[in-house]
Amino acid sequence: MTSQIPQPPDGPTRARAGADDRRDRSRPEPPPPLRVPVADSHCHLDIADGPDGSWLSAEDAIARAAAVGVPHIVQIGCDLPGARWAVEAADRYPALLAGVALHPNEVPVLAAAGELDAALAEIDRLAGASPRVRAIGETGLDHFRTSEEGWKVQEDGFRAHIELAKRHDKALVIHDRDAHADVLRVLAEEGSPDRVLMHCFSGDADMARECVRRGYYLSFAGTVTFKNAASLREALATVPLGRVLVETDAPYLTPSPYRGRPNASYLIPLTVRHMAEVKGVDEADLCTAIAAATNEVFGSW
Ligand SMILES: [Zn+2]
Ligand SMILES: [Zn+2]
Repeated sequence: MTSQIPQPPDGPTRARAGADDRRDRSRPEPPPPLRVPVADSHCHLDIADGPDGSWLSAEDAIARAAAVGVPHIVQIGCDLPGARWAVEAADRYPALLAGVALHPNEVPVLAAAGELDAALAEIDRLAGASPRVRAIGETGLDHFRTSEEGWKVQEDGFRAHIELAKRHDKALVIHDRDAHADVLRVLAEEGSPDRVLMHCFSGDADMARECVRRGYYLSFAGTVTFKNAASLREALATVPLGRVLVETDAPYLTPSPYRGRPNASYLIPLTVRHMAEVKGVDEADLCTAIAAATNEVFGSW
């Protein structure tokens, strides 16, 4: 096709083989469709799935998702090329909305290169570049991948993104890895924007209650289906239905029973069904509530 949008390379799925890695890397079969459609509230269509490729084109990812009751996807750009791609893709595909930001792990790298201020100015421009941009994110703190000497500049970057979300009246999409207390502290110090979404929520029940108390929304990813995620399921159980969203964070975090295989938005029903069990509610009721919450955060498609 003659797209202006840089397309991830199409190609057949290749299973990795070899003595050192015999994991099955093939794409899982699509699950049965959801009866009530929901959006994938956080996805990276532009990021390859691993060293062996196995990329879906945006068209293919959107079509597969729509076929199982996931007609909408929020495409999140994490660096300048990714943010530009997200805006162009959301303008082109009605199934997509965009979020733009410099990822917390990207901020210290840009700062070290002396490029942070210019990059933030470009995110500021992109935030106003299209009505399809509905979020500033993902931003926040990552104390897992960024070492301690980068935390100060990471926090400054987070504060700058909070300011952008307020000024542009966009949802703020938070990435929080091993930094729960500091994320909540910075948000309290700056004052939260009207709509805050904790993406791939990873806190415990106490943190979930604090987020709900502050009026935040919580998005759950495939991690909630993992065997060792009892405390995350406990957290989900405390969150009122109107504050719960669902996401893939694809190509990462593939839900059970396909952990380790490539993730994409068409696997959302697996996570939703697991969440419905945790909440003890009917799948369709959960989907109706998720769709309403997603609409409150990002607006309509
Ligand atoms: Zn993230
Ligand atoms: Zn992400």
